[in-house]
Amino acid sequence: MPTVNVIGAGLAGSEAAWQIAQRGVDVNLYEMRPVEMTPAHHTSAFAELVCTNSLRANAITNAVGLLKEEMRRLNSVIMQNADANAVPAGGALAVDREPFSAGVTAALKANPHIHVVNEVVDDFPEGITVVATGPLTAEGLAKRIVALNGEDGLHFFDAAAPIVDASSIDTNIAFKQSRYDTGEAAYYNCPMNRDEYYAFQDALLHAQVAEGHEFENLTVFEGCMPVEVMAERGRRTLLFGPLKPVGLLDPRTGKAPYAVVQLRQDNAAASLYNMVGFQTHLKWGEQKRVFRMIPGLEHAEFVRYGVMHRNTYMNSPVVLKDTYESTKRPGLFFAGQMTGVEGYVESASSGLIAGINAAHLALGEPTETFSTDTEMGAMAHYITHTSPRHFQPMNANFGIMESLDKPIKNKIERNQAYADRALAALEQRQLQQA
Ligand code: FAD
Repeated sequence: MPTVNVIGAGLAGSEAAWQIAQRGVDVNLYEMRPVEMTPAHHTSAFAELVCTNSLRANAITNAVGLLKEEMRRLNSVIMQNADANAVPAGGALAVDREPFSAGVTAALKANPHIHVVNEVVDDFPEGITVVATGPLTAEGLAKRIVALNGEDGLHFFDAAAPIVDASSIDTNIAFKQSRYDTGEAAYYNCPMNRDEYYAFQDALLHAQVAEGHEFENLTVFEGCMPVEVMAERGRRTLLFGPLKPVGLLDPRTGKAPYAVVQLRQDNAAASLYNMVGFQTHLKWGEQKRVFRMIPGLEHAEFVRYGVMHRNTYMNSPVVLKDTYESTKRPGLFFAGQMTGVEGYVESASSGLIAGINAAHLALGEPTETFSTDTEMGAMAHYITHTSPRHFQPMNANFGIMESLDKPIKNKIERNQAYADRALAALEQRQLQQA
């Protein structure tokens, strides 16, 4: 039976190696630390948490909570060590970071199927391989990935606008229309009068910006300038940028609004909309406060906030299958943040699927697509089926899952229904595999 290579022992690579080994397949796990460090890691431990110690919400009525529960049911090494090292954090699952990483490291090193190699990998090894080298992938391998996927296949900078849950947009205020009424009414338009515009511009100027890491102080390209930086350039600058009102008529007044914020459909199910031109470096709490001043977004739920940071991620809708296998090279899998899933738990869950599929191949079995009734299957589907033109990394959320047969108004009941259906789908899978 072939040995599988896993490159990178972060959140995704550790989970992938574990899942492969659980299926009796041997793994070479390559990790460059401590031979070479990334700008964000400080230790040589596997699955190091580079920033917060929170793995976010724990209840299954929250999408990332459901994702964690799905992973527990699939014997996740990340979840076992997270639960074992939990610290009090209200409704969230936060961990004592050092014993958490030490626990993952010890479990992998003690596994007889896992052979750890501490070196920097610059090329894809021969044979079945999972690449999980994260947002700070070392340069040599990043170049190799560009060579495989083509120039547009890898992004190095994430300048993402916030994405809102469509059901939280107030459609009594926000109206659907395309500029100059051309084509299908593809956008939601949030109209502002003069006073609302200047109050909003003022709030942007005084909002708190997230602290940058030294390596994130990249030159801001004009094309992806943060909305708050644009607001500093002049009282009316935004009116010629993301808030320009031209070609739009508010059906409630029959007149052109003073300013308009547009939201563009982000997924095929039209359950998510992104704020056009609103890439931002504001703190997440500030984004919620300031962007809720926009008429129609007073109760907006942000499924992901805007971010601007260094991030290596592929154009997965073009280069990846929903099994996490490359469309370019059979037997080569990618996992983690570099596939366009965003966050510790999301990264680990992609490693879990990639690992299971790499093991399937090694065992001579067909690869497996996870149901979009599950959050982990929905994430795999989203990153490989959404529009490649505007592809940006995505957090777990209910908006990307298969819609429910019957709509449920109450949010908690609706989320519970998503969760029940997801866990039933996983049970069904286990029964089929038994
Ligand atoms: P990583 O966990 O980074 O693992 C990649 C591994 O590959 C590393 O161990 C690295 O040393 C190794 N590696 C890289 N190149 C090579 C090579 N050529 N050869 C061998 N080994 C290699 N997410 C959150 O959920 N919450 C946060 O607060 C958060 N803060 C972040 C802050 C920063 C500064 C950054 C950069 C990211 C942050 N993220 C955060 C995103 C975070 O990176 C991911 O959630 C998660 O770590 C991604 O897991 P991963 O396995 O894809 O990558």
